[in-house]
Amino acid sequence: MKILSFDIRSVLVPLPEPHRTASGVIEASPLVLLSVLTDEGTRGHSITFTYTPAALKPTAVLMKNIEPLVTGQALAPAALWERLHGRFKLLGTQGLVGMALAGIDMALWDALARSQQLPLHALLGGEAKAVPCYGGIGHDGEADSARAAERWARQGLKGVKAKIGYPTLAEDIAVLRAIRCAVGPGLAVMADYNQSLAPGEARQRLQALDSEGLQWIEEPVLAHDYAALVQLGQRVRTPLLAGENWWGPLDFRHAFNAGVRDQVMPNAMKGGGVTGWLAISAMAQVYGAGVSSHLWPEVSAQLLTATPTARWLEYADWWNPILKNPLRLREGLADTEGVIASGIEFDNDAARAYAA
Ligand SMILES: [Mg+2]
Repeated sequence: MKILSFDIRSVLVPLPEPHRTASGVIEASPLVLLSVLTDEGTRGHSITFTYTPAALKPTAVLMKNIEPLVTGQALAPAALWERLHGRFKLLGTQGLVGMALAGIDMALWDALARSQQLPLHALLGGEAKAVPCYGGIGHDGEADSARAAERWARQGLKGVKAKIGYPTLAEDIAVLRAIRCAVGPGLAVMADYNQSLAPGEARQRLQALDSEGLQWIEEPVLAHDYAALVQLGQRVRTPLLAGENWWGPLDFRHAFNAGVRDQVMPNAMKGGGVTGWLAISAMAQVYGAGVSSHLWPEVSAQLLTATPTARWLEYADWWNPILKNPLRLREGLADTEGVIASGIEFDNDAARAYAA
């Protein structure tokens, strides 16, 4: 089976509610929707989230420029991943290049699984298993964070994650306690600093949070300060994790080399697509580190199902408006039963309505 062509669309999908982060408010998701067509008529789809609308057009143009390197080639995603990453070694495969390559990789794997009429996890050799899901909460203050946590709890999610990093530790604690109060003792509560602390302050705040019963604390310091993350981990009891901003398997190698062992959080796009995830998952398995996902709920549900040390799926409904069949949840677990490939198929009317 050979790859015939790309269909690339750019959309701006408004969020149900603006998502506040420590580094700005996200009001809409800028997405590149890629559909790859093969000579046997199979299509494969992927979503590339560019975080900011400023990166939307350049990412779509990059994909279009990479198309001639892929068309006419056999549908062999892992082999193409190697070839394309080799091709861009001089420029580097982080940033927009990495995002475009990952979007292509995910669409190719999707096409391969669809051609076999298999769920992606089955194509990768995995079997169906229960993956618990949690919902994210923005940088919304005490009352709104508690309300958002309640909404996730009502939907049956197994955990909730708050963005913290308020001006004072007291505010961080107040938000976390309001959330705990809203969801009760049965749900996991996670906290995410989104890289906002310097190492010294991180030590003080995280030691104070040790008695809050958190499932984990995410990205307390700069994502690429692996040494600081490892040192912090030796001084606090709460598990720490990072990974959503690590680019490809190589950044994960750096993290493991620095001593990260407990758990990691690859992002299906920045991690290098399905092919990148498989390398990361294998490293995590070797080191005994748990793997949780970041956004991309549909493809991540499939990937975690095929990941030996899978822990948690980050559920988000941001991109549901452009999907025919968004990821289903059943009693707080990702429900992949009956899903073919990644399950991603675009609602073309919605894609037209949100065209950027
Ligand atoms: Mg995070």
